[in-house]
Amino acid sequence: MNSFASFPMREELAQAVKDMGFETPTPIQLKVIPTLLTEPKDIIGLAQTGTGKTAAFGLPLLHHTDVNKKNVQCLILSPTRELCMQIVEELKKYGQHMRGLKVAAVYGGVPISGQIRDVRANPQVVVATPGRLIDLLERKALSLDEVQYVVLDEADEMLNMGFREDIDFILKNTPEREHTWLFSATMSNEVRGIAKRFMKKWEEFSVGSANMTNENIDHQYYVTNNHNRYETLRRLLDFTPGIYGIIFTRTKQDCQDISEKLMRQGYHVSPLHGDMDQKMRSKVMERFKNKTLQAIVATDVAARGIDVNDITHVINYELPDDPEVYTHRSGRTARAGKSGICMSIVSPKEISNIRQIERIVKQRFHKSDIPDGAEVVRKRLFFYLEQIANSVPQDDFAALYQANIHERFEDMDKDELIRRLIWLQLKDTIDMYNDSEDLNAGYDNTSRERGKGNKTVRLFINLGIKDGFTNSDKLLQFITESTDIEANTIDRITVRDLSSFFNVPYSAAEYIIQVLSQKKHKGRKVRLEEAEQRDRERAAAGGGSYGGNRRPNDRPSYGDRPSYGGGRDRSGDRGGDRGGSQKFNRRNDNKR
Ligand code: AMP
Repeated sequence: MNSFASFPMREELAQAVKDMGFETPTPIQLKVIPTLLTEPKDIIGLAQTGTGKTAAFGLPLLHHTDVNKKNVQCLILSPTRELCMQIVEELKKYGQHMRGLKVAAVYGGVPISGQIRDVRANPQVVVATPGRLIDLLERKALSLDEVQYVVLDEADEMLNMGFREDIDFILKNTPEREHTWLFSATMSNEVRGIAKRFMKKWEEFSVGSANMTNENIDHQYYVTNNHNRYETLRRLLDFTPGIYGIIFTRTKQDCQDISEKLMRQGYHVSPLHGDMDQKMRSKVMERFKNKTLQAIVATDVAARGIDVNDITHVINYELPDDPEVYTHRSGRTARAGKSGICMSIVSPKEISNIRQIERIVKQRFHKSDIPDGAEVVRKRLFFYLEQIANSVPQDDFAALYQANIHERFEDMDKDELIRRLIWLQLKDTIDMYNDSEDLNAGYDNTSRERGKGNKTVRLFINLGIKDGFTNSDKLLQFITESTDIEANTIDRITVRDLSSFFNVPYSAAEYIIQVLSQKKHKGRKVRLEEAEQRDRERAAAGGGSYGGNRRPNDRPSYGDRPSYGGGRDRSGDRGGDRGGSQKFNRRNDNKR
């Protein structure tokens, strides 16, 4: 049984799955569905969101639902309103051909009257958050007396949110309950406790381990001092034009403060936390889904309800206390076979936490440099060039204004025109990053921190994303395979569009340069040099800088060049709220 067609499912469900375009069952579906269809015993399923677990329990649940009966037969408990709504949406799609099927949603934060009406309309399936369900039970708006199937979805999260007593109360009030299906991303004693109290003999199913390794996630960390955390976040955002991400904070207060600050500075972000009322949260989700927002700043609990498949980046403004929470956060990206990046901003003291998380995630994390100003400008420039190259202007627009445009710029040379357009687009970024600070926390500590006391040297290589090295692992593989150098001697790989940087022990640098410089990649000669040497040469030639380990005082800055806005007063707060037109330009520059 390895296809939906082979599952002994009622015809209406098989048709719905076909309509929805599901081709192959996901691992958790393959494991759970056949059992629950034929022998719906008690089970524990260890699976995270995004693994297809809603269908894993939803299809068997609907299969066993008798649409001719007018009482609640199936109850699904979920931790948040958002998850509740998602489950209902999914169930409605699976049950689209089941005539007479009624699914009701019950959650807090909205007036109860509508829900009283919904549960009195005889639904066979109720999806509920524990608190509101108890409210309705106390008002005798619905009865659980004939519930046969109970699903606890994201049980660990319900326990984290303090619903233990509510869950116990609800389960005790389901006298006809025959089957309990518990789903959880993690297994803890508390989760096992529910099973022990309320389930008979159960079978456990997990997809890999609960902390499944998702090889499509590139885990990166950026080391900065605590007082530079916010500026680092900002720089990472600026360095990632096109980001569609979630920024995680530990507290609601941080969530609110950081997003307000970012909004004031012209970023398209919004907070999402539990103190916001449901209406506001739904609005934020709507703006995020239609991509009006480039990122959401969220607390762990609020982010649980975000069901978006194409998130490009997760940023940990701070690491979570619990390493397991890291896996929840990073699992928000690289879903449905896509790849994604999880960036963590850490202080030097927190590097040991990274090691701990690496063990749990079972993947190596890459220490990356916080980019300097010139890199940010360069990155945004290339992004903008790509946008121009890929844009398709409306025909009407071209026809209407072509003559005027042509006439106005008839005498201007094409290169000059391009230069001016790009300058207009980027001048704010250039101005802001003129003479920007090095936010990386002490490099020297880094080698000590690795515990070897070895001195390392940073190398430049003329290969980057454009050469197919879309992540650090790919470049690492190329270097190790070409040189026979062990992967763990290479560190801090930073892949850029056209080139990359990495650290190697001094003792190995000469060998690596020599061997790799004789190689070709896709017909192009590979070139390496010491990053500092390269920077010195570029500085002497008056060029910008691209990622070596320089200190601010030996960095050539954009401000050195009068044509890049020299002479402007930059005494103001570069990170502060900016005036009208600057802000407008910045928004343009940030537009997705
Ligand atoms: P879930 O883990 O239940 O939140 O599901 C994540 C997303 O994957 C939902 O949008 C589902 O509709 C979708 N999905 C579930 N199962 C499959 C499948 N077998 N094939 C394709 N998409 C699926």
